Amino acid sequence: MSTPFRFVHRYAALPASFHAAVEPTPVATPTLLAFNTALAAELGFDRTDYGDDAALAALFSGNRVPTGATPIALAYAGHQFGNFVPQLGDGRAILMGEVEDLQGRLRDIQWKGAGRTPYSRGGDGRAALGPVLREYLVSEAMHALGVPTTRALAAVATGEPVYRDTPLPGAVLTRVAASHIRIGTFQYFAARGDTDGVRQLADHVIARHYPTAAEPATYLRLLEQIADRQCALIARWLQLGFIHGVMNTDNVAVSGETLDYGPCAFMEAFAPDTVFSAIDRQGRYAYGEQPRILPWNLARLAETLLPLLDPSEDRAIEKAMGVLNTVPTLLAAYWLEGFRRKLGLTTAEDGDTALIQSLLQAMHQGAADFTLTFRQLAAYAAGDTRVRQGFKDPQAFDAWGIDWRARLAREGTDPAQLALGARLRRVNPAYIPRNHRVQEVISAAIEGGDLAPFQRLLAVVTQPWEDREADAAYAVPATAAERITQTFCGT
Ligand code: AMP
Ligand code: MG
Repeated sequence: MSTPFRFVHRYAALPASFHAAVEPTPVATPTLLAFNTALAAELGFDRTDYGDDAALAALFSGNRVPTGATPIALAYAGHQFGNFVPQLGDGRAILMGEVEDLQGRLRDIQWKGAGRTPYSRGGDGRAALGPVLREYLVSEAMHALGVPTTRALAAVATGEPVYRDTPLPGAVLTRVAASHIRIGTFQYFAARGDTDGVRQLADHVIARHYPTAAEPATYLRLLEQIADRQCALIARWLQLGFIHGVMNTDNVAVSGETLDYGPCAFMEAFAPDTVFSAIDRQGRYAYGEQPRILPWNLARLAETLLPLLDPSEDRAIEKAMGVLNTVPTLLAAYWLEGFRRKLGLTTAEDGDTALIQSLLQAMHQGAADFTLTFRQLAAYAAGDTRVRQGFKDPQAFDAWGIDWRARLAREGTDPAQLALGARLRRVNPAYIPRNHRVQEVISAAIEGGDLAPFQRLLAVVTQPWEDREADAAYAVPATAAERITQTFCGT
């Protein structure tokens, strides 16, 4: 069989300390659960050319390594909940190589849950079906929402149990990413005093992701550009109520994509201290903490780059601080720009931050659903006042609504026109993967082997902008009885 992908091997060509060769461990009875035809097409992969479902299941389980692949696991380190772990690495993920897509971009293609690697430590190298389906759904929803993210190409059931607290069905996710290089990858070499390794990694990242930082290779420019993309990314999360859940430095991609969907979830009632992850007992990665964790993570990256920034450590620190000090302002700018758009504003006024904050405060006090409130602003602009009903005290919304209409009037926006147009509906989604829905489809898959609810939810959340009568139930928040308050990594 000819190679199904146009492989290039840039990462595998880096020195031996960057990775370890590893073959996937075959699984008993692979069954194809989901396959992303649109993404496959971007990669030049033709499903019908390749074979039937059984052939795809063999491929995307790791049972048949694609021709031309160079399977490796990547070395990295990371701060986990603030504590440094000098060696983590891909303990259950295998990179087959980079694929040149139809636009000529290089995309990593990785099998997650494909068996043990030299970095597995005590782990089994496997993934459970629940987290695989969650990552598939949420990453594809994020992509549809316009958020930079890794993608899901396929999910395969292994036919083997994995043992967590209880036996669970096992699965493999095939993930596509701009790359899998993390802040923790830089930390891995820095922690070993391997400045050459840091430099080689930085040069690789510049060539792959930040070509404008290349001539001459300025590592400060690289730090600046990574910081910029991270600020843009976290602002997008905040504008969608997304909570990553585990913003450890080993889960932060230097490409600026959302990476490693674990116990992630979307907030419903607005509350900055919302946490879903069962392992985040201190609320370190709560919704409203994410803007504070970002500069902390970037500071960890900056530390690794110091030897490249200047021969004098003092001057290197000064240069790095010059970038790090801009991060809160930069993030605030992306935040403001995005929330202005969510209110349909096209101009800037000094009072806009206060206007946005006062809506968020009313939502917080009124336990109003984040997604639905913004979605219903378009109807409210046309005089439909349903949005008020989402607030415990609808009058708290009324006061804000008057301010908003006055603000629109000052920039000459006619609310009736705004209500009709796509401006608001293209930034305030109708459908997000609500946590109780995600849990519901995972349960159906695990308990009844029924993937139909998963496929249905996937179809809904990957078309988030248009209201559809038939999907109305997916747009509403969980009832008290349906509400899920905890999510699990499942590792
Ligand atoms: P995660 O929580 O998925 O971001 O993983 C953190 C670290 O633990 C990474 O180095 C993973 O490769 C590793 N890991 C997680 N689950 C497993 C597993 N089942 N087997 C081996 N390594 C794992
Ligand atoms: Mg991770």
